[in-house]
Amino acid sequence: MRTLLDLVLPLECAGCGVPGEHWCGGCSLALFVPPVAVRPRVDPGVPCWSLGTYSGPRRSGVIALKERGRRSVARPFGRALAEAVGHLRDAGEIDPPELSSLILICAPSRARAARARGGDPVLRCARIAAEQLAPERVLVPELLRMTGGVRDSVGLSAGQRQHNVAGRIEAVGLARSHADARVTPSAEFTVLLTDDVVTTGATLAECARVLTDFGVPVAGALVVASA
Ligand SMILES: [Zn+2]
Repeated sequence: MRTLLDLVLPLECAGCGVPGEHWCGGCSLALFVPPVAVRPRVDPGVPCWSLGTYSGPRRSGVIALKERGRRSVARPFGRALAEAVGHLRDAGEIDPPELSSLILICAPSRARAARARGGDPVLRCARIAAEQLAPERVLVPELLRMTGGVRDSVGLSAGQRQHNVAGRIEAVGLARSHADARVTPSAEFTVLLTDDVVTTGATLAECARVLTDFGVPVAGALVVASA
C-alpha cells in the first residue's frame, strides 16, 4: 500500500519536502558528515558516534522511514553510515578493513513495530551501508532481538527506558554464529552497534551488555541521530 502511495503521490524529499526526489542534495550534505562522539545519559560502555542531532533532515528522515514507511530513506541513511565508518577509520577510532572485518549489529526494534513497518528499517539501513562498503565484506547478522513486554519508549524517562529494556534484549543465533567461523566475532572483527536514534542510550547499553556477555567485543555504536 505504501509503495503504491509512493507511486501516486508527488515525489518529495523525505528530509525537507523539496519536490522531485526521494532525498535531495542539501539533505545529503547534512548526513554525509564526520560522526561526532556523543555521551548518552545511560552510558553504553562503548564509544557512541552520531551523524548529528535529532533535528532537520535527520529527524524528518527517521520519521519518514519509521513512521511513514518511506523505505527509500534507508538508502541515504545507509550510504551515510558507510561514509561514517570511513571517517571513523580515518580518525583511527576503529580498525581499518585490512586489520579487522566489520560487523554491523542493529539495535533491535520491538518485533510488532518492525513488522508493522514492513521490516526493520534500521536493518535495511545497515544492509545498504554494507553494500556501500563492497568489495569489503561486511556482515550484518541479526543477532539481537527484543523479547515481549517492551513498551514503546516514547515519553519514558532515562530510568524508565532502562527498566523497559533491561533483560529484554536477547542474542539470537549467536550460538549458531559461533559454529560458523566466518561469523564468530573475535579480535579480527570490529563490531559496531547501529541504530537510527540514540535518545537516553538505554537500548544501546543493553545491546552492548548482552553482546559482551556472549563474549562479543563491541567497538562502539554508530547512530544516524542523537536526541
Ligand atoms: Zn531535502
